[in-house]
Amino acid sequence: MTLLSIRDLTVHHGQLRAVDGLSLDIEQGEVLAIIGANGAGKSTLLRALAGLNPPTSGSIHLGGRDITRLPAHRRVSAGIALVPEGRRLFRSLTVEENLLTGAYRKRPGNWTLAGVYELFPWMADRRGQNAAQLSGGEQQAVAIGRALLSNPDLLLIDELSLGLAPVIVRRIYEVLPGIVAAGATALIVEQDVSQAMRIADRVHCLLEGRSVLAGRPGTLTAEQVEHAYFGIGAPEGPEAPGVTGATEGPGVADEPREGLN
Ligand code: ATP
Repeated sequence: MTLLSIRDLTVHHGQLRAVDGLSLDIEQGEVLAIIGANGAGKSTLLRALAGLNPPTSGSIHLGGRDITRLPAHRRVSAGIALVPEGRRLFRSLTVEENLLTGAYRKRPGNWTLAGVYELFPWMADRRGQNAAQLSGGEQQAVAIGRALLSNPDLLLIDELSLGLAPVIVRRIYEVLPGIVAAGATALIVEQDVSQAMRIADRVHCLLEGRSVLAGRPGTLTAEQVEHAYFGIGAPEGPEAPGVTGATEGPGVADEPREGLN
């Protein structure tokens, strides 16, 4: 069953079309990874789904309900939780206080504080510590726990592994199947392409706000993904303005290419 349906979604930052006529569906219970170079529009897409970047046009339906114009706080009640880039914990609050901020909407569901502590046992031991004392990876885990406590149908995680120690990333990906099994569907922006290919049921590659490649990881070759990622061989012209320029973007080349090995 389709949980989320995005049609012709366009989101601007000023004059810039950060998301450009994007359409995609997410099936209930799947893990969908969004990949793409810096500036491809991944964060803007997630923020638009969470109600933080209003779309210029297009539609977003969650479980058949049109949520395109629903304000962010009501999307949490509707079942969408965002783990934003940079975690955004309240640094002066404790681990447990941060977790509980996720529960204020009191959506019915399976996730409880005890359930989150079971998922990340170290958190229970450190529940009284300030968030500021946690490492980046630990903060990411708390941000995920906080999102789970809103009992989301759709969990959005931005830049999941960015800047985190591999051991922490591994642990988060280890628990992801359990999170999905407990009833959530996950949409993940993943900087590390090979990681995305390992964990996702499906991937979409964005380039300049458009989806230029989509499919199950097993059906996509590394070459296809690399070409989509960098816009190699993409047609120029009115349908795809300036796509080839994406190959020249500063800071884009090294990291994802490594990820494709
Ligand atoms: P990154 O991996 O660098 O975060 P991304 O794929 O998540 O990239 P976005 O952050 O969505 O991409 O950015 C898409 C485009 O929108 C980029 O050109 C970016 O510079 C621009 N942009 C993002 N946020 C803003 C903003 N608040 N104001 C103006 N432009 C923005």
